[in-house]
Amino acid sequence: VPAPVSTALQHRLIDGRAFAAELLDRVRADVAKVRARGREVGIATVLAGDDYAASVYQRRIDRHAREAGIISRPVSMPADATFGEVVGKIAELDVDPEITGILVLRPLPEHLDDARVFERLPVLKDVEAQHPENAGLLALGMPRFVPSTPAAAFHMLDRYMVSIGRDPRTAYDGLDLVLVGRSNNVGKPAAILGLQRNATVISAHRHTYDAGRLAAHTARADILIVAAGVPGLIGADHVRPGAVVIDIGINPVTAPDGSTKLVGDVDTEAVLPKVRAVSPVPGGVGPITDAWVLHNTVVAARALATAAR
Ligand code: ADP
Repeated sequence: VPAPVSTALQHRLIDGRAFAAELLDRVRADVAKVRARGREVGIATVLAGDDYAASVYQRRIDRHAREAGIISRPVSMPADATFGEVVGKIAELDVDPEITGILVLRPLPEHLDDARVFERLPVLKDVEAQHPENAGLLALGMPRFVPSTPAAAFHMLDRYMVSIGRDPRTAYDGLDLVLVGRSNNVGKPAAILGLQRNATVISAHRHTYDAGRLAAHTARADILIVAAGVPGLIGADHVRPGAVVIDIGINPVTAPDGSTKLVGDVDTEAVLPKVRAVSPVPGGVGPITDAWVLHNTVVAARALATAAR
């Protein structure tokens, strides 16, 4: 159980909840506008199996969606659902006029191939940019949807830049941005977003760690974004003095009393005396991610309305 964060350094924690609340207000207003034109906004989340983090995420999206006036359809399928059953459900949601966004929750059960499932998503409802067409558009710098977790990380960074008097359009120019993790849904798209902001991007991953080179790279970072899924991976020796650190890790750990709590990939207490700012877990990127999924669902509703004209 981590010690409480030193009160004198609290101001270095970036408050994701405040940014998320702002975003959700905007989403609520956007939803009202779309519905005033007689169009629905609806999100379907497809969960196969009972992964703990995925089901927590599914419930959070459901709650925030309904609070924002968005139709919510959480779909739960058994862990032994077949490929045909999962893509059959996607096909149903594709033709459902109430649903404008479809999100397939990861991890899918072992026997299902992520890429083959994502290929079956209708591209205009693919709010996480999981379909190859949408992933490709993002890589080319012309995104239809920006996937929610990396979008949330950069939303937080952009807002942080504004809060210290920097213009986010130029604040990243030539900075060393080091990413830890290169997954298709987080690390890789985050690298693309960093390049678009003119940062010098370094993508570190498991092999960097195995080669004993992780700290050598992370300790150079002006901005460090960590999405490795390893609790406490990043400590004081991994960060440069004055760095801005964004922690995307969400790791459930069981406390001695049997309760489950969430911790990030960064040892927040350890890095706090050294960094300029660090995002906490919980209360950092996570809440912004939820809001961003809903934002993308509204973007999808508008795109579908345009396509139908
Ligand atoms: P997520 O969906 O949160 O990005 P994944 O499990 O799909 O999580 O990906 C984890 C990423 O983190 C991978 O790119 C992997 O190489 C990287 N990673 C895992 N362990 C380490 C480590 N000890 N050091 C550096 N990178 C790591």
